[in-house]
Amino acid sequence: MNKDCRVKCLALTLLMISQCALGLPEHDSVPGGIALVPLTTDKNVMFNGRRVMVNESAEGYIAIVGIPLSRSPGSLHLDTAEGRVRFKVNEKQYEEQRLTIKNNRKVNPYAQDMERITRERKEMDAVFNHFSQVDRADTDFDLPTQGIVSSPFGLRRILNDQPRSPHSGMDIAAREGTPIISPAPGKIVATGDYFFNGNTVLVDHGQGLITMYCHMSSISVKVGQRVDKGQYLGDVGMTGRVTGAHLHWSVSLNNARVNPALFLNQETTP
Ligand SMILES: [Zn+2]
Repeated sequence: MNKDCRVKCLALTLLMISQCALGLPEHDSVPGGIALVPLTTDKNVMFNGRRVMVNESAEGYIAIVGIPLSRSPGSLHLDTAEGRVRFKVNEKQYEEQRLTIKNNRKVNPYAQDMERITRERKEMDAVFNHFSQVDRADTDFDLPTQGIVSSPFGLRRILNDQPRSPHSGMDIAAREGTPIISPAPGKIVATGDYFFNGNTVLVDHGQGLITMYCHMSSISVKVGQRVDKGQYLGDVGMTGRVTGAHLHWSVSLNNARVNPALFLNQETTP
């Protein structure tokens, strides 16, 4: 390792240590990732017309920006009270995944299913678009259920030989009935039995950070209820569009579905 390399390595290690100490998510500036952007202000910080999470650190403010999977790599910017702040999004190639779903209606819904699907999508979009003010959102997540990651975030999906949206969450395979917990404090903002997602719970953690739990066999929380870190939400199941019992876990930041692995703390990373 030459001297330049060593200095860079040390700087990177120090950055990682300080991120850990602050409980910040991991910086991974790619489509479907998160950019940690240093700022000199926390006023009117917007990305793409949406409010952005900002945390205070010893060195100043840090914006925690969710980058949509559909974003092309390149130079992006935040708008702030003190002007534009640029940040770079790097390229990332996600792998392809082919799945066979036995119930073809869940891949090619009937005409009469479309009304329900549209209504449910609107309901979920409204939740993902919401920005609730809290002093500091806890971004140091516990793993929400005990199991094996069976399908990571971002896979380009081919269902029954037809291209579909990329995988917008992390799948954790576990036996039906395995408890699901909230990875951080929050408020239950929606529950329902959705066409694709089955029994679902959405938790608002504040500052545009929302998590979603799908395919549950049972739901044990109610809309409006506050939950603590580690609080029981319900059980793993196989409702909705599934090939087996698992938890589909989505994390949304400024209405961008991002890689949940970036939020997991060291202790509970699978
Ligand atoms: Zn999934």
